[in-house]
Amino acid sequence: MMAGLPADFPDYIPTASRPPIPPETRANVLARADGHCEVCGRRAPLDLHHLHYRTIGREEAGDLQARCRECHRAAHVGLAGEWWNDPEEKEAYYETFYREAALG
Ligand SMILES: [Zn+2]
Ligand SMILES: [Zn+2]
Repeated sequence: MMAGLPADFPDYIPTASRPPIPPETRANVLARADGHCEVCGRRAPLDLHHLHYRTIGREEAGDLQARCRECHRAAHVGLAGEWWNDPEEKEAYYETFYREAALG
């Protein structure tokens, strides 16, 4: 279970189809964040955001970020308002997009 994640938050890979974050890792990230979003610093309910999915099921604290709802959403929503499951794919897409745009 993603504690604190409301049902209407359309998060990436459905929790049921992937192994859970190791409890120790979860605890470490939340201890590191100390109740504050690790992006904007606001004190808010926190989601655990995957920076990437390469260590799924054996995540370490460095693979995750505690983010408030707003910052978490921002990690997954692209410039056109579209939803990206994997933030790495999103970055790769926009990197290409901007490179091509720069070339005209
Ligand atoms: Zn935030
Ligand atoms: Zn996320």
